[in-house]
Amino acid sequence: MGNPTEVPRISVASERPLLVFCSLPGFEYQLDPYVGCGHRCHYCYVLNQAETDWSEEILVHPDFEKRLREELQDVRPQKIYLGYFTDPYQPCESDLRQTRTALELLREKGFSASLLTKSDMVLRDRDILKEMVDSNVSVSVAFDDHGVMRLFEGNTMETSRRIEVLRKLKESGVGTAALICPVIPGITKVFPLLEALVGKADRIWVYGLSVQDRSERSWRNVQAILETHFPDRKETVEGIVLDKEHPYWVELREKLVGIGESEGIDLRVYL
Ligand code: SF4
Repeated sequence: MGNPTEVPRISVASERPLLVFCSLPGFEYQLDPYVGCGHRCHYCYVLNQAETDWSEEILVHPDFEKRLREELQDVRPQKIYLGYFTDPYQPCESDLRQTRTALELLREKGFSASLLTKSDMVLRDRDILKEMVDSNVSVSVAFDDHGVMRLFEGNTMETSRRIEVLRKLKESGVGTAALICPVIPGITKVFPLLEALVGKADRIWVYGLSVQDRSERSWRNVQAILETHFPDRKETVEGIVLDKEHPYWVELREKLVGIGESEGIDLRVYL
């Protein structure tokens, strides 16, 4: 699963369209300023379709600014999604600034942006986001315990700092959303996380662990972590993850929906 202290190597990506179709509701296009992610989430669904080893190598688009400028000429101004496949705030972004360049261009052309990240580097770009109409940032969290988080995420920022990012963005007037994702039964403490997020994000989404195929790399990674660190509950957790109608999910869904309704939280549950 890679050494978390290793810095991913940087390579040049083959030329490809930068703006691509986005399957998320409400979006036509998505943009990933980088390909590959040094945050090393071992459950990352992109591992299963990645063209590289994903966390060891980050691909950087050649002539990024020029090509994005050209592509934007043919698109009506709208909100573009950044971060569907790769967190736009890779450690190398502090030097390469491709995400900031993308945001500057989007602002210049009258577009807006919706970003998904686990990094506080997004705070650097508050100035641009504040000037866009209806921009928003989503931050995902899954573990309230740092040691457990480090088992599943090799090189991410701690949960409390991510929640602080949301608070600061909200305070600046940028739209915010939190994802409690992925919920791993018996490991993700959904209710303490929810409590910590209420008031920091305009909307909270809750998602389970995505397993399309039991042979996929992300699922095998999770199985290996369970085997090594949670051998007493591995079988139970696996049984629940693979059965979406398991009473665990039914009960959790009901509880969350009830809390959302009774406490007036914009809570979207996809478990
Ligand atoms: S931050 Fe997102 S894209 Fe990066 S490894 Fe984690 S889940 Fe995958």
